Amino acid sequence: MKASELTQWKQRLLALRAEIDVAIEPVRKDDTRVGSEEDEQPLVEMSQVIASKRNRERTESLKRVNRALARIESEPEMFGLCRECEEPIGKRLLAVPHAEFCVECQQSSDGGPKLGRRRHLLDFK
Ligand SMILES: [Zn+2]
Repeated sequence: MKASELTQWKQRLLALRAEIDVAIEPVRKDDTRVGSEEDEQPLVEMSQVIASKRNRERTESLKRVNRALARIESEPEMFGLCRECEEPIGKRLLAVPHAEFCVECQQSSDGGPKLGRRRHLLDFK
């Protein structure tokens, strides 16, 4: 990948990181509410669970973005290549600039139970 392209990816990743940073919700500990509005409590808890799940996903994305940025610095020749099979990630990178695996490797790492389907796909080739 050319240095100018890498710079572009770096800028995209930095922009993405800023976006995720803003989206992460601060964890609210509203202890004063406990007991005062018991009817509302389950709802508050539920929305906190949802918020923390979203936060976890965002934090996870943030980590990937940071890893991608570190990768551009430390091994620029490897950026855009799958960490598993070292094939170019290709179009997936356009949608997910912090993608670390090509579509095929991503699918196989997404879950064990899908392995059977993957084998089937390989047979088909
Ligand atoms: Zn791969």
